Amino acid sequence: MARRFSLVALFLLLCASPCPAAGKRALFIAPQAVFQGEPFLVELRLPFDPESAVLIWLGRSQPLEARPLDGGFWVLRGLVGTQASQKPGRELLALRVEAGGRSRTFPWQIEIKGRAFPESRLTVPEKMVVPPEEVRARIERESRRVREALDRSMAENLWTLPLARPVKGIVTCPYGWRRVYNGKPRNPHSGVDLRAAVGAPVHAVAPGRVLLAEEHYFAGNVVYVDHGGGVASAYAHLSRIDVGPGQAVERGQTLGLAGATGRVTGPHLHLGLFLQGRHADAMPLFESDEKALLDGREGLEVAID
Ligand SMILES: [Zn+2]
Repeated sequence: MARRFSLVALFLLLCASPCPAAGKRALFIAPQAVFQGEPFLVELRLPFDPESAVLIWLGRSQPLEARPLDGGFWVLRGLVGTQASQKPGRELLALRVEAGGRSRTFPWQIEIKGRAFPESRLTVPEKMVVPPEEVRARIERESRRVREALDRSMAENLWTLPLARPVKGIVTCPYGWRRVYNGKPRNPHSGVDLRAAVGAPVHAVAPGRVLLAEEHYFAGNVVYVDHGGGVASAYAHLSRIDVGPGQAVERGQTLGLAGATGRVTGPHLHLGLFLQGRHADAMPLFESDEKALLDGREGLEVAID
C-alpha cells in the first residue's frame, strides 16, 4: 500500500511525528517528469540499514551506499540522468535493497520529455569527421576503455552539490546541441564547452578518484574522475595533465591545464558529466544543491511489511 504526500507533508511526517508507524515506512522522493539530458535526484529513506542497494535505470544497475539519518532512518541518494538522444516516453526507475535475507524493490515511473536542441555547424579538419582507417581501431579501443572505466564507479557517494566550476569561462557550446561537422550530422554535443585559454587551470567539479588520465583521438589529453554512485566527470582537450589514475582529488583541485588537443576548432574545455554511464547536462548542477533538486518533488510513502 502506498500513499502520495507533498514534500512538505513528508518533512512534517519525518520531523514532527514520533508515531509508531514511522519505523515501518519507507519514503521515496523522485521527479514524475524530466527533460532529455536533465540530471535529477532520487532519494529513498528506509527504516532499516540495507546490506546492499542497487539503482536500476534504463537497463543499467548501479550499486549505492546507504547513509544513516537521524531518527533511525537510512538514506539512499542517486544522481540520475538521461542522454540528449533518449527517446521521450515513460520509463521505470527502481531501487532494490537487500536486508535480512529479503529483497525489496521500490519502483517509480518517470516521464522523459523531449527538448528542442538547436543545431550548430562546425568546420574541422576532415580526418576528425571521417577518421582515417588506421585510427578506427584506436578510437574503438579508447571508447571501450572509457565505458569500462565508467562501469567501475564506486558505490560510495563522494559527489557534492552544487558542482564547482572547472574554469571561469562562459559557455561557448551548450549541452545537447545537434552538431554538423563539415556538413555531416554527428551525435548531439555530449558535454558543455567552456571558454578557456591554453594554460588556464582546470579544476575538479566534485571530490572523487581519477579513473583515466591519457590521450585520446577525439578528446585529446583527457581526465576522467569518478565521484561514486555512477557519477563521473571528464575534462577534455587539456594541454597538460597533472593527475594520475587512482589518485584521490578534492572539489576544486587542479587536474591539468586547458588546451586545444584532439578534435577542436580552438582552445576550450569540454566538460562531460556521466550519470550511470550516460552523458547528462552538467549545467543545472552548478546552481542547484541537493535541497533545490528535491524541492517541490512529490514523495511516496511505502509501508514496509
Ligand atoms: Zn565539447
